Amino acid sequence: MIEMKDVYKKYPNGVIASNGISVKINKGEFVYVVGPSGAGKSTFIKLMYREERATSGSIIVNNTDVTALRDQKVPLLRRQLGVVFQDFKLLPRLTVYENIAFALEVIEQQPTIVKEKVMHVIAKVGLAKKAQHFPHELSGGEQQRVAIARAIVNKPAVVIADEPTGNLDPDTAWGIMDIFHEINQDGTTIVMATHNKDIVNSLRRRVIAIDGGEIVRDEYGGDYGYES
Ligand code: ADP
Repeated sequence: MIEMKDVYKKYPNGVIASNGISVKINKGEFVYVVGPSGAGKSTFIKLMYREERATSGSIIVNNTDVTALRDQKVPLLRRQLGVVFQDFKLLPRLTVYENIAFALEVIEQQPTIVKEKVMHVIAKVGLAKKAQHFPHELSGGEQQRVAIARAIVNKPAVVIADEPTGNLDPDTAWGIMDIFHEINQDGTTIVMATHNKDIVNSLRRRVIAIDGGEIVRDEYGGDYGYES
């Protein structure tokens, strides 16, 4: 599903945030990406959805070589990938329904199908009653649920999440993790950068630990592994 080979990323300021990373993530896996601040977790994730371009090496995501992808083709890639951020990134002037439909409508024209798909994912994240609310009328956890619904509405093969519980209290974070695990059980590959030690240690999955731009540990059913 995702394969990185000898990936280097050097930022214009000279920082090497990915120092020869090679890794393979198979379809249906759930992967936590852990490591201290500045380790290169976000860069690892941004390279996958082509927010950043690798300096060298190859990155294949769902049969697409994202390193060779032209900028105009990036939106096409983004429809095969759902991305969830720490700060939700919802459009403030659009309702819950519209935020999600916006992600879909570009490719899906028929209004009845749009409605069916949007309402399906809204129900999946438990927000059926809030479809007509605006983001500022929702709690942080609810906003993140909307962001997840938006990420999965195109039925992507992979969902990538960068610290999705970073702005949420522990109880809310658990609710969000439950949704990610449900999505994973439906067969979607999940790659999640996180600092949430409790979650990584309780819901054991593959753990890729990054430090200094390198993978320092890659373990199935691993624990969080360091004090932060
Ligand atoms: P993490 O997500 O683990 O905190 P990052 O991938 O954000 O780590 O950062 C890895 C390193 O790259 C850090 O030293 C950071 O300062 C640097 N870095 C990240 N983004 C940029 C950027 N856009 N320009 C320059 N340096 C960056």
